[in-house]
Amino acid sequence: MLDSAELLPALHTTFGFSAFRGVQEQVVRRVLAGQSTLAVMPTGAGKSLTYQLPATMMPGTCVVISPLIALMHDQLRSAEANGIRAASLTSADSNREETIDRFRAGELDLLYVAPERASQSHFRELLNAGQISLFAIDEAHCVSEWGHDFRPDYRALRPLMDSFAQVPRLALTATADAHTRADVLAQLGIDAAGLIVAGFDRPNIRYAIRHRQGGFTQLRDLLKEQPGPGIIYAPTRRKVEDLAQKLGEATGRRVLPYHAGLPAEQRAANQSAFVASEDMVMVATVAFGMGIDKPDVRFVAHAGVPKSIESYYQETGRAGRDGDDSVAVMFWAPADFVLARERLSEMDESRRKGERTRLDALSALVESPSCRRAILLRHFGESPPEKCGNCDNCLEAPGVADGSVVAQKLLSA
Ligand code: ADP
Ligand code: MG
Repeated sequence: MLDSAELLPALHTTFGFSAFRGVQEQVVRRVLAGQSTLAVMPTGAGKSLTYQLPATMMPGTCVVISPLIALMHDQLRSAEANGIRAASLTSADSNREETIDRFRAGELDLLYVAPERASQSHFRELLNAGQISLFAIDEAHCVSEWGHDFRPDYRALRPLMDSFAQVPRLALTATADAHTRADVLAQLGIDAAGLIVAGFDRPNIRYAIRHRQGGFTQLRDLLKEQPGPGIIYAPTRRKVEDLAQKLGEATGRRVLPYHAGLPAEQRAANQSAFVASEDMVMVATVAFGMGIDKPDVRFVAHAGVPKSIESYYQETGRAGRDGDDSVAVMFWAPADFVLARERLSEMDESRRKGERTRLDALSALVESPSCRRAILLRHFGESPPEKCGNCDNCLEAPGVADGSVVAQKLLSA
């Protein structure tokens, strides 16, 4: 087994980092020892490195399953920038022959593929023609119907991997509650002893969840009080455009919209403006944020409830990646749930059950008078202290708060 003295030079040579973060080293060591693992690590914790580093150290190619071509290409670019020999095999790639030749010749550390490949017999044949070091399954919650993003294609991974039984598996996800986690282990054939969960707490994020009362005024006031780059998540494209324009006018700040309906060039331009800026606000649908590396986002606001606690955690988690104080504010109204619950009736039975559980957990979070952070962390299987001291409910508890805050709480109860 390698000791740290041998792992750290590899980390430094390939990535330029001088230390592992959190559970990264533990995960990398398991992989190098050939032990299948499910690593549950929050967004931004550095999951990619846990398969990319072993991939450069083990003989053969690491096959990476990733659900979105855009995500795959981002990863590919950053791997290549670090000098890792990587390629992707998707319908969008024109260099497939070359990639296949490189794989066969053992010249690839990483081969990115979409889950659809898993069920194709010619893909299995291709894998047989080369040497595989590791199966890395990114966004592994997609294999579970309990997860918030079930992708039936992920179910074909198990039979494929079973036919390469000696190859270790590394499943990665940011968003798995205890139930989903157990299911991911079972669906991917990973022993329960292979579960590694990183700490989910983001102590520098102050959580606040408020009733929406004249939502626009609340957002305007937030923008006036809260400096630094921020993201406001709005439920619809129309709402995004409307809020971006009106908030810009009302506050004089630079506020731009982002949603999937905007022309690609405008999306790209708004995104780069945001990444480069020190004070810009992006009003966006949830289409915005994945794969964006901006550590100094100072606030994330939700103009309406997110889809689930997992989504809430992931979206608010885009604030404060640099560790500095940041704010996550949600403005919600009972109507948000009415709509979501109406949609339940249109779903088929199997999906409805999971969705209802998710909505119930979310409504318990927003309506609770107790510590928000404790509720979040318990949801992810941790045992946090009863009070965090850095959320609205801890800071505004009767006895702590001044009169105006108490009045505000009574109004919103
Ligand atoms: P995740 O997939 O868990 O959301 P990524 O793998 O995309 O996270 O990594 C997030 C960021 O953290 C990247 O910019 C990556 O380069 C950086 N990072 C990862 N590991 C380390 C480390 N050990 N030291 C410093 N930065 C790291
Ligand atoms: Mg990732």
